[in-house]
Amino acid sequence: LESKLPHVGTTIFTVMSALAVEKGAVNLGQGFPDFDCDPKLIDAVTAAMKSGLNQYPPMAGVPALREAIAAKLEKIYGHKYDAATEITVTAGATQALLTAILCIVHAGDEVIIIEPVYDSYVPAIELAGGKPVPVQMTMGAEGYSVPWDRVAAAVTPRTRLIMINSPHNPTGSVLHEADMRALEDIVRGTNILIVSDEVYEHMVYDGARHESVCRYPELAGRSFVVSSFGKTYHVTGWKIGYVAAPAPLAAEFRKVHQFNVFTVNTPVQHGIATYMADPVPYLDLPLFYQRKRDLFRDGLKNTRFRLLPSDGTYFQCVDYSAISDMPETEFAKWLTTEIGVAAIPVSAFYNEPKESGIVRFCYAKKDDTLRLALERLTKV
Ligand code: PMP
Ligand code: GLN
Repeated sequence: LESKLPHVGTTIFTVMSALAVEKGAVNLGQGFPDFDCDPKLIDAVTAAMKSGLNQYPPMAGVPALREAIAAKLEKIYGHKYDAATEITVTAGATQALLTAILCIVHAGDEVIIIEPVYDSYVPAIELAGGKPVPVQMTMGAEGYSVPWDRVAAAVTPRTRLIMINSPHNPTGSVLHEADMRALEDIVRGTNILIVSDEVYEHMVYDGARHESVCRYPELAGRSFVVSSFGKTYHVTGWKIGYVAAPAPLAAEFRKVHQFNVFTVNTPVQHGIATYMADPVPYLDLPLFYQRKRDLFRDGLKNTRFRLLPSDGTYFQCVDYSAISDMPETEFAKWLTTEIGVAAIPVSAFYNEPKESGIVRFCYAKKDDTLRLALERLTKV
């Protein structure tokens, strides 16, 4: 069989989690919480199962969940999506991204991506026959940012899609209003579409607001907004998320979705719909994670790692150039094996080899886990 993805191996997340288990290291690599979700959410899902809600739901998702999602988007971002025609429930953000790309990208179309980039985007573009066009983020005193002039320069008549991700994995940077205005200027008068990966939408710190594309009507009209309940409700293993898009775009999305997964498991959808009636869990999330970020950053100040900003997500990037000149993957493996703390090399988020001497830690962990990791990192 001729591989459709000849360059793809096992993802770095799987590799580092396996190494962490093998070496008994504290796993700050792969992004997932080491604490459980709210028991009320489990109760809501099991109640749905016990009441017999166990057969196929409608293709686009359980209406009550789509309505809860639409209500949240309107309440927080002021954009009204029609739950019937514009919201689709997906098997996590990964499926949402793949399905969106498959419905948008035709063979030979160019897709602008911003590097470092989440690892699923490029294979998805390649499966659709598209051509990824990477633009690298720049690093300044304020950390990573998107050079919009370079994004504008990368646009050609073949550009079909621009993919953005804020808050950003792995850098922890967030887009601000000026970024959204720059993006508006780039797409105005073109038929370029946008996929906006907002899975960390509820993890923006220091009182800043999340700049969803749906706050910006010119962008919302051409965007697929992707999010994930796995991140918001501490249930990454449930693999459930959604896409919000204007009706004509959502209709095309659903054509692919129905032959991709057809639909997503019923009781979890009902359970989340019930649980979402209370906005407190997602409204409290910024403070919950900001406290963990601060605990982790305060501890790292006593190490030789140089801290980059973490304005959003649950990731903290650090520069280790004062400690070692090893390449990032080698350093991450050394840190896991010899120091007992697993990290993710940021080089894994570039498609051409790129070494910046930076690794990513995940701080979605119990305070005790973070303290144990810090104790070990202080010895480096
Ligand atoms: N996009 C980004 C930026 C992510 O970090 C992740 C999860 N790590 C995903 C998409 C995938 O989310 P899900 O687990 O819901 O498929
Ligand atoms: N998104 C998670 C991370 O960035 C990992 C997801 C996965 O393992 N594919 O760590």
